[in-house]
Amino acid sequence: MDDFDKRIDEIIRKHSLHQCLECGKCSASCPRLIAGKEYSPRLLAHKLIAEREDETFIESSVWECLTCGLCEERCPSGVDISHLILEMRTLLAKSKGLRGYRAHDGALHSWMRMMTSPELQQERLGWVDPRVKTATHGPIAFFTGCAPYFDVFFSGIEVDTLSIIRDSVRLLNFLSIEPVLLANERCCGHDLLWTGDQENFETLCRLNYEEFKAAGVEEVVVTCPECYHTLGTYMPKVISGFDIKVTLLIHLLEREIKKGGVAFKPFKRKLTFQDPCRLGRISGCYDTPRTLLSLIPQARLREMENSKHSALCCGNNAFINCDAYSKRVQVQRLKEAKSTGAETLITACPKCMIHLTCTMRDPYSRGSLKLEIRDLVSVLADHIEWSGK
Ligand code: SF4
Ligand code: SF4
Ligand code: SF4
Repeated sequence: MDDFDKRIDEIIRKHSLHQCLECGKCSASCPRLIAGKEYSPRLLAHKLIAEREDETFIESSVWECLTCGLCEERCPSGVDISHLILEMRTLLAKSKGLRGYRAHDGALHSWMRMMTSPELQQERLGWVDPRVKTATHGPIAFFTGCAPYFDVFFSGIEVDTLSIIRDSVRLLNFLSIEPVLLANERCCGHDLLWTGDQENFETLCRLNYEEFKAAGVEEVVVTCPECYHTLGTYMPKVISGFDIKVTLLIHLLEREIKKGGVAFKPFKRKLTFQDPCRLGRISGCYDTPRTLLSLIPQARLREMENSKHSALCCGNNAFINCDAYSKRVQVQRLKEAKSTGAETLITACPKCMIHLTCTMRDPYSRGSLKLEIRDLVSVLADHIEWSGK
């Protein structure tokens, strides 16, 4: 047995793949397969264990998965498909140079890799409103993620992910926090990590950690659930002695609002909520968004047919494999949202906003999928009573 095989054995042991019963529940719930793609997590499990010589099948299947984690909810044997896929991608990228099919010709992955240059000079704080209070040094930082780049890159579909981070800083000021904004922050590395580029991911971790330490940061507040999962779970695996607390802004808001004294203006609107995969199934956060929305008078939340643990993904992850099957998943999700009668689709991840907006604006749908889409943080910032602050 060579090193490559030994590594696969380690991966399948770590993620309990030997416990697979071949029941097929994963395939029966997989949005990619249901959308018609020739892809089966059950068959991939079988091939990895019993027919590893079918390299063509394994090497293509590993890149098909959305890593949405829906199958893990159904699997009776506790097989952790999405993290198994992550490690298989890392192995295949390193040993065979495989990368999967990258959306937008890999432009997003290129800018993420460009950020690994230690000499990089960025102008990433031009969005900061002079009315908000921020700092260059201090114990609490706000991590902006890739929003400053997304708005430029996706200007054609008019996404406004910058408003999410502007509203996040306003809310931190409301809580009397003047967060550090790092002029040379890098991407958290989520997409490089989940497409197998471990080396560049680790470089981003080290550069971000150096920035945190140079600014005296002890706690990083994030809005994006991908940044939250990456900084909180994967960065500590790279940085030994990692000593930065990673906090999700909506958790902080929930904790502070529960202390009392915060009121909200009415929002007379029917809402539905898209559970982002990295927030819900991967971080286990389902209640906080719903609790926060319930505090806004007259806002009525209507759940989609598939919500919380069963929520359907926004159709893409880490900007790979955007194809007709991803579009089908997105169209189904938007139809589910519309069938609730909601006027506004609330999400809590800039990438859900990007991918779902992209599909809403498809000219071939003739506007039939259009729905107002807002981030949870922006809705909270718009409806919080600012008086007295
Ligand atoms: S649901 Fe779990 S046990 Fe069933 S085939 Fe899939 S991985 Fe195997
Ligand atoms: S993680 Fe999602 S896309 Fe991947 S096999 Fe499971 S259900 Fe399918
Ligand atoms: S859904 Fe649109 S924005 Fe998202 S990867 Fe595909 S083409 Fe790009």
